[in-house]
Amino acid sequence: MLLFDKVSKKYDGGIIALEDVGFKVDQGEFFFLVGPSGAGKTTLMRLLIREEIPTSGSIFFKEIDVPNIPTKLLPTYRQRLGIVFQDIKLLSTKTLEENINFALDILGKEDKEIKETTDYLLETVGLQDRRNLFPHQLSGGEQQRGAIARALANNPELFIADEPTGNLDPDNAMQVLEILKKINKGGTTVMIISHDRGIVNEMKTRVVRIDQGKVISDNKGDYDTVKTPKKTSAEETKDKENKKEEENVKFKGLDIGINEIFDKAKISDIDMILNLTNSDLNNLKLNKSQQDELEKYVANYLNKEKHE
Ligand code: ADP
Repeated sequence: MLLFDKVSKKYDGGIIALEDVGFKVDQGEFFFLVGPSGAGKTTLMRLLIREEIPTSGSIFFKEIDVPNIPTKLLPTYRQRLGIVFQDIKLLSTKTLEENINFALDILGKEDKEIKETTDYLLETVGLQDRRNLFPHQLSGGEQQRGAIARALANNPELFIADEPTGNLDPDNAMQVLEILKKINKGGTTVMIISHDRGIVNEMKTRVVRIDQGKVISDNKGDYDTVKTPKKTSAEETKDKENKKEEENVKFKGLDIGINEIFDKAKISDIDMILNLTNSDLNNLKLNKSQQDELEKYVANYLNKEKHE
């Protein structure tokens, strides 16, 4: 459904906000985008909603080449997304119900559909009895749920929320999380930018972590679970080949390159290694780091010998 491929974003002034970012999202997934302040999360979101264009790389939303959407088709594209921004919540001069009606009106819906959809959305976020209140009369959690309802008005394929539980107490945060889960259960793909360990740990779902503009981990788990990004099948095949090579080498635990050099020089047992002089090492063309590694290997071996 969504693909970021080698995406980099350099802002004017030379700040590299994203570098070689790659990840894929399947339809119906629920995932968190986490990372410290300045990591590049907002930039990633702005690229996705086409408020910004990447410096290099490609972004696809289904069949749509996002950076290359013609300007006149941008509103149609954005209607396929439901977006809740960090600070922009509801229109202050309209009641909750009017806020949702307004979003549906813009989409050109008929009165009857507007009423039915508004009822449905208010029920989804549990705010039927607050429909006639103005935003300032609603609690923080209620405002956030109202903003979510409004973002759902166009029945988005992808729902994106930036810190939807920021500033909410744990109870209200959990209520918001329950709504997000409900949205996802209905088939909508959900992407949440969050700092909130509580909700991330509660979900135990996919966590894409970025730091200094790079994806540093991408796995299911808790907020603090840092694992390396999922490997592609080509990388896995290479790993297996490397492992096989490692199993076949004569001196296990020693770098494959050094093993190859020893193999060529017919150095076949540890005693021969122990008797190598510095000039032998130079003749074998072991570079400095290989010599260091060999030294460690020998020290390890002698250490084991001593203990056995
Ligand atoms: P996050 O949302 O993870 O806090 P951002 O995407 O906002 O991170 O920022 C990533 C980096 O890009 C930061 O160093 C930030 O200062 C920089 N940055 C963000 N927006 C702009 C901009 N419009 N112009 C220049 N630099 C920017």
